[in-house]
Amino acid sequence: MLIHRTLLDGALCDLRVEEGRITALSAAPLTPLPGEEVLRGGLVSPPLAEPHVHLDAALLGEQAPNLSGTLREGIANWARLREALTEQDVLDRARRTLAMYRRWGCLRVRTHVDTGSELAVRALLALREEVRAQGVQLQVVAFPQEGILRAPGRREAWERAVELGCDAVGAIPHFERCTEEGWETVRLAFALAEKYDRLVDLHCDETDDPGSRNLEVACVETLKRGWAGRVIAGHCTSLHSQENPYAAKVIELVTHSGVQIVCNPLDNVVLQGRYDSYPKRRGLTRVDQLWAAGASVGFGHDSVMDPWYALGTANLVDAAYMAVHVCQLTSQEQMVRAVRTLWTDNHRCFGGQPSIVEGAATPLLWWEVADEVELLRTRPEPRVVG
Ligand SMILES: [Zn+2]
Repeated sequence: MLIHRTLLDGALCDLRVEEGRITALSAAPLTPLPGEEVLRGGLVSPPLAEPHVHLDAALLGEQAPNLSGTLREGIANWARLREALTEQDVLDRARRTLAMYRRWGCLRVRTHVDTGSELAVRALLALREEVRAQGVQLQVVAFPQEGILRAPGRREAWERAVELGCDAVGAIPHFERCTEEGWETVRLAFALAEKYDRLVDLHCDETDDPGSRNLEVACVETLKRGWAGRVIAGHCTSLHSQENPYAAKVIELVTHSGVQIVCNPLDNVVLQGRYDSYPKRRGLTRVDQLWAAGASVGFGHDSVMDPWYALGTANLVDAAYMAVHVCQLTSQEQMVRAVRTLWTDNHRCFGGQPSIVEGAATPLLWWEVADEVELLRTRPEPRVVG
């Protein structure tokens, strides 16, 4: 196949793809070979990557509507549904959700799994192997949805999930009983990751409470171990509500430590601000300031029709679109960066973005749009090439 006069990183080029490889990449036009399929124009990119979703809870939203709209009700509703899970049900919903991701060009997915259900942990670890053969890379984070210190048995179940083979250690420090136990949770997560040589991926400060200060602890633990690139702090919405001098200090720590922040705009714009009257806070982390400081930021979809967020399409461009609106990232440069994040920074936890160079393996995506801004505006289905 020849992709003729297409846009790659803002420059026009021609690409030839044969038998799963890019066999030619040229700034000058290439001549079509006899019988070759030709795609004209558009934009090419690596496949997309999803840094944050919950496949164990996906597609369950209708069974547990979140009437208050809060994170806490979502957690309580999910805890009831969790009791009735079967392995087959978890696998069916996760497979259907991954099929939605593939349709939208996403071939790498990091899912959190609630370690309160060993059945779900085992199901998603088995699915990780199953989908590898279909060209999908799945990572599983051992996520203790209701914390590890609030009730007996939770810490043991969390450690067991890591032992079973989860790729990363999760935690939810802001949901623990008190500030000190939150900090202790962060430290325990790093210690567990060190023991089993795993990555770290925290649900960090997902609250409007400016007193929630777990991100700085995560940065310090990362700095102590030299774990730049191994740690994700997801949500970080308290940063939105904190005083500017404190936020400036923490953002500097984030950049210095190499912790990646994953913003989940679809969920957080509806879950945050729920204790406000008017004015209501937007509640997303400070993407513009993180970018300006040189930090790596990913965009996650987080929920696909689950007890926290009843909507969701598994189209990551929707997450970028929401972030652009709510974080006011509307300069040309910011909009382009928001879209490119889906195929650049979002790949960080998978070892970096696939490169589009001569000789590289495909697949790649071809989008029938004029540029990144049109991609964002129209959110079309890409064609997966190769
Ligand atoms: Zn989450």
